[in-house]
Amino acid sequence: MTGPDTPDAPRLAALNPRLPSPVREVVDARFERRGVRLLLKRDDLIHPELIGNKWRKLAPNLTAAGGRAVVTFGGAYSNHLRATAAAGRLLGIPTVGVVRGDELAGRPLNPSLARCAADGMRLHFVDRATYRSKSEPRALAAVLRATDAEDAYVVPEGGSNAEAVRGCRALGTELCDQADVVAVACGTGGTLAGLAAGLAPGQRALGVPVLKGGFLTGEIEDLQHQAFGGARGTWYLDDRFHFGGYARVPAELDTFAADFERRHDLPVERLYVAKLLYALVALVGEGAFPRGTTVAAVITGRPFP
Ligand SMILES: *Cc1c(COP(=O)(O)O)cnc(C)c1O
Repeated sequence: MTGPDTPDAPRLAALNPRLPSPVREVVDARFERRGVRLLLKRDDLIHPELIGNKWRKLAPNLTAAGGRAVVTFGGAYSNHLRATAAAGRLLGIPTVGVVRGDELAGRPLNPSLARCAADGMRLHFVDRATYRSKSEPRALAAVLRATDAEDAYVVPEGGSNAEAVRGCRALGTELCDQADVVAVACGTGGTLAGLAAGLAPGQRALGVPVLKGGFLTGEIEDLQHQAFGGARGTWYLDDRFHFGGYARVPAELDTFAADFERRHDLPVERLYVAKLLYALVALVGEGAFPRGTTVAAVITGRPFP
């Protein structure tokens, strides 16, 4: 059973998410001289622990879970695992995190996984081959058996399924009439898939992938099909700003992010948000946006810890 009448919907509402999330205009000379306005869509302020797009993606899944344990997947520094673990503690739902890398088992936990464990998430480490095969039904069933979670509700890696994508549609509707272009950093692309569906005709969504590979277009199309039964909205990707791949933060990017923090008093999360903001400054410098354009940057997260 899903929908607003399941027991977890009121408990989620009791966590007082700040929705719609605030929008702040910033004055930045690099945009001003090109006649472009820059808005920050502060999804990082939705909830202190269920941060940003993780709230939008997890909330409908937690409702659908209907109180069952939640099993999900991630790497050793996954923001999605931390958000799921925090949700479990806040809502009293058991959570299991299947972590990529069996070499991590039995070793001291890194700060991100330690946070998950402190929030009560049961961690289960699997080797990379098992991790890769986790969406095949038999491999998944074996993992669920091994974690003693056969009746659990399964949320895929990165949290992007149809429920999550539909949850992100509100990000788009909150920005209707506010911007011409809405830009977001992409991991799985689930947030972009939902955002684009919520925008009004004439608005465009721009995705900045933080992973190397250029495989995301097909996955975003698939997610929109699963969530809405077809393609929705106008969106495009710019693949030039991954800086070598996931979790790569070269000095140039770090310096850029620290400078942006000073200019605008905004904590800049490095793995996603820094790449998005760098991309926007580069694009505006290239003249990619006509004068008079308003660009909204979605601040999907904040630095950890
Ligand atoms: C998870 C995450 C994303 C990526 O969201 P997708 O829906 O997987 O594309 C972007 N920014 C931050 C801060 C995140 O934690």
